[in-house]
Amino acid sequence: MPNKEHNSWLNNADRDLVALGIATAAIILFVATGSSVLPKAIDAVFSDGVGPDNLLVNALLLNVVLIIFGWRRYRELQNEIGERRRAETLARELAEIDPLTSCLNRRSMEAATETLRMHASSQALAVAYCMIDLDNFKQINDIHGHSVGDEVLVEMSARIRDQLPKDASLARLGGDEFAVITSYDAANRDRVDDFVIRLYEKITLPFQLEDVTLDATISIGVSTDHDDDGFNSAADGSAALMQRADIAMYHAKKQGKNRYFWFEPTMENELRFRNELESGIRRGLTEGEFVPFYEQQVDLESGELVGFEMLARWRSTQMGIVSPEIFIPIAEEIGLITEMSDQLMDQAFVDAGSWADPLTLSINISPIQLRDPWFAQKLLKMLIKHDFPAHRLEVEITESCLHENIGMVRSIITSLRNQGVQISLDDFGTGYSSLEQLRTLPFDRLKIDRSFVSELSNPDSSSKIVDAIVSLGRGLDLPITAEGIEDEVILKTLKSMGKLKGQGYFYGKPESAQEVRERLALVGKLAIVDENNSEPVTARQPAANVSDIEAPALPKIVNH
Ligand code: C2E
Ligand code: MG
Ligand code: MG
Repeated sequence: MPNKEHNSWLNNADRDLVALGIATAAIILFVATGSSVLPKAIDAVFSDGVGPDNLLVNALLLNVVLIIFGWRRYRELQNEIGERRRAETLARELAEIDPLTSCLNRRSMEAATETLRMHASSQALAVAYCMIDLDNFKQINDIHGHSVGDEVLVEMSARIRDQLPKDASLARLGGDEFAVITSYDAANRDRVDDFVIRLYEKITLPFQLEDVTLDATISIGVSTDHDDDGFNSAADGSAALMQRADIAMYHAKKQGKNRYFWFEPTMENELRFRNELESGIRRGLTEGEFVPFYEQQVDLESGELVGFEMLARWRSTQMGIVSPEIFIPIAEEIGLITEMSDQLMDQAFVDAGSWADPLTLSINISPIQLRDPWFAQKLLKMLIKHDFPAHRLEVEITESCLHENIGMVRSIITSLRNQGVQISLDDFGTGYSSLEQLRTLPFDRLKIDRSFVSELSNPDSSSKIVDAIVSLGRGLDLPITAEGIEDEVILKTLKSMGKLKGQGYFYGKPESAQEVRERLALVGKLAIVDENNSEPVTARQPAANVSDIEAPALPKIVNH
């Protein structure tokens, strides 16, 4: 309570004591004076006796006034106490209850867990802590707005509440994170599994909201204070239970979401490693440790080099060269993918500026980047900054981009294509793009995922999937690039299927910018700059011949 308010309350209390004293004294005096005045007054009225003394009458009247004053003060006091009680209840509720969902909040959940633990231990029961997290809440908020997000949370809390076991408590710990604690017979862990499975059944039903119907999945982590050997002192206390459930939930997310896990100690090591990766990525970004590598793309029929796909690498001081399959998903999750991609693209445009026209540069774009309505404008600005021709840029998006806001993706693709940028659908066949999307979205190329292409290396295996994708591409008038060409057998089979582009270790592994420059220099495919007008022109002769060209017009290899 603030000091000022407290003081005024004390003053009121003092005043009330005085008022109470006055009222009590008035009543005593009233009794005393009344017993003397009233009989005399009655006597005077009915038997012509001598009236009461004036002084006593005045004292009696004063008593009446004082009693009325005391009574009114008493009523005021009652009202004040009532208001104070209501305010205290509201304050307690605000401190303990989540206002949106009316669940317990993080603070009160801690107390509820301790209470349940004491109760459970007195009954020889175990306590389970379930951490429940919506898988796509951020997306729901981003696409449909926060009020729809709030409706989902309220509905979700109601669905969980409907399934709660008798002694269980439900809390919203923040955002889309809910927690349930319940006691159970340690010998009968299935009861907790049954509860969790019921949650999955109910929460994954469509959310029919006022304006929209949404699907949601959840990830759950469960911890317990009992293991096979009985009470586990390592999971003693609400903080330990919560932390373990959180780690298990996080593990469920890592395993692909929409699933649940009981906590196991090995998960803690994974988390530690993951935290190290996260801080390593943050540091690496400021230190410029993320660098573009390039994989050759070739016209299969002629064997001619047509361009490169930029593939990110992390030159980590601690771990050496790290694969994008490890750091890209983390960068996406911790919201750094755009910054990382911007750094990589900036560098890639610099590198590709030294390649001869018409060599192309392909870049991979994360679905998260396509959530930015300004993505196309930002990319085009970058092209202008580096003076890189739009028609030599190919943007690769994966099928998972098409699950998100398809309207936004369509408008980004269209803006880029209008400027001449080519759009490829990467890893085709591994996602769930529909034929309708293929027909209506303006792609320029399909890239067959290497998992299908690698099948071709076994002469006995069927090439039906690759065949089917190639025919589909032909039917939709979409050129095809085959990924993962590792040997001649694969190459031969692909060549027999028609005119394709391809890439893979058969042609070479991804290389650094410097290695690419050396490779291009050998085949005369480095851009050369005419110093007089500083416009890059294509060097058709090998680099060895470059210096033969006469001075003033001496072309210089662009070296960054
Ligand atoms: P992707 O775009 O499908 O790239 C092809 C991946 O296959 C690359 O792996 C490449 O090194 C590998 N590969 C190519 N040919 C062969 C082959 O013949 N055999 C085998 N076994 N593998 C081959 P990498 O570089 O590890 O990249 C993995 C994925 O990471 C990429 O798949 C792409 O989706 C993503 N990625 C890479 N760089 C970036 C980036 O800058 N931004 C984003 N958003 N994603 C990126
Ligand atoms: Mg790619
Ligand atoms: Mg691919």
